[in-house]
Amino acid sequence: MIQIRIPEKVNTIIRTLAAAGQEAYAVGGCVRDALLGREPADWDITTSASPAEVKALFPRTIDTGIQHGTVTVMLGHEGFEVTTYRVDGAYEDGRHPKEVQFTRSLLEDLKRRDFTINAMAYNEEAGLVDEFDGAGDLERGIIRCAGRAEERFMEDALRIMRAFRFSAQLGFTLEEQTREAAGKLCGNLRKVSAERIQAELVKLLTSPHPEKLRDAWEAGITRVVLPEFDVCMACGQNNPHHIYSVGEHILHSLQEVEAEKNLRLTMLFHDFGKPAVKTTDEKGIDHFKRHQEVSEELARTILRRLKFDNETVRQVTKLVWCHDYHPALTPAGVRRAVNRIGEDLFPLYLKVQRADILAQNPSMQGPKFQALGEVERLYEEIVREKDCITLKDLAVDGRDLIKAGFPAGPLLGEILKHLLEQVLEEPGKNRKEELLLEAVRKYGKSNSAD
Ligand code: ATP
Ligand code: MG
Repeated sequence: MIQIRIPEKVNTIIRTLAAAGQEAYAVGGCVRDALLGREPADWDITTSASPAEVKALFPRTIDTGIQHGTVTVMLGHEGFEVTTYRVDGAYEDGRHPKEVQFTRSLLEDLKRRDFTINAMAYNEEAGLVDEFDGAGDLERGIIRCAGRAEERFMEDALRIMRAFRFSAQLGFTLEEQTREAAGKLCGNLRKVSAERIQAELVKLLTSPHPEKLRDAWEAGITRVVLPEFDVCMACGQNNPHHIYSVGEHILHSLQEVEAEKNLRLTMLFHDFGKPAVKTTDEKGIDHFKRHQEVSEELARTILRRLKFDNETVRQVTKLVWCHDYHPALTPAGVRRAVNRIGEDLFPLYLKVQRADILAQNPSMQGPKFQALGEVERLYEEIVREKDCITLKDLAVDGRDLIKAGFPAGPLLGEILKHLLEQVLEEPGKNRKEELLLEAVRKYGKSNSAD
């Protein structure tokens, strides 16, 4: 018999419910992950008890989703979601279940779940309840709808995104009927909220297999939620630096960068501007002049469309903008680059550069890695020496300039910028007297008293 090790607190909840004559099981993602030998992120419990019955059995509960039958049971500082068996009513616009109906049948509850691998329940008494052979699909590496795929995707189109997301997280493939239904019904994703699409896209991108985006493209999903990507897939790059189309290059670059959200988003968008600026010269070589700026604009538009937060938009658009920036290979050149890109983003920029190169023509990578390695070395030196990179590290500020007799106003900003450029060039100049002298030299006599 298949056995799962359930955390003690989860067992306490299940046993408490059982002692009251109710059924209770660990269910969904946690059973799937446990069978895969992965540490589940959280343990969800499904029960025959109504929310009121659950609340009566545990001293501390929170109504976290009471309208869907979910009560969070607090044990110590930990919370566990306990949800009453339910049948989801008809879905409105393929978006929300119009109403949920409670049931006393575990099977009914499992039937409402999206995929076979997510539709298993477990407790120590009954063992694994696996009506749809989710365990078999886990072994085969298959994402299969629980029940008829078309029906399930009609009820909730987000499940189409979830199918590709789980395939990316687990390295699984979509079972044929599930894949066909996904392709057929993906137009319904237009009715799904941007926030829900965003969440699934981020999970797909930050998974071990971001290249599964290709499968989503093949099935027609990106054409609906990210049509700009389809344009990239259709854009060849006849250029010695490249061996892939823009879209394929993007997919490879995603695999070459660590699974961090902003880095993966940056790789996704970094060349989105290429199709719009593509030119072909008389020798038939393709060029993509200033594509970074178009990519940056597209990234901003798409991130906003998908309702990403402002900080994500700021970081990703800036990284896209600078992804192709090549500093002069001197300490001053790299200091200027750190100043332009930002101290916070510079380490990420280096990772973006590396991933970008790794997804280009291997026979041209040597000199690129050499240059990048040199930038990295110079950057380490700058960090070690704590060189002044921004105005906040400059030995003078606006107040010093006013004290030295310069009038308050926009000129101060201009002077400080000039002084910073001097210091970026030569960090030894970052001394107050020297900088004030330079300010006077360049911006006219100071009228200070002495
Ligand atoms: P993870 O939390 O790791 O992303 P998960 O499988 O736990 O994966 P959740 O979104 O937390 O996914 O949902 C928990 C469970 O609820 C799923 O395993 C599945 O059984 C069910 N479920 C979630 N969303 C849907 C949906 N849109 N349609 C049908 N069932 C769903
Ligand atoms: Mg979950």
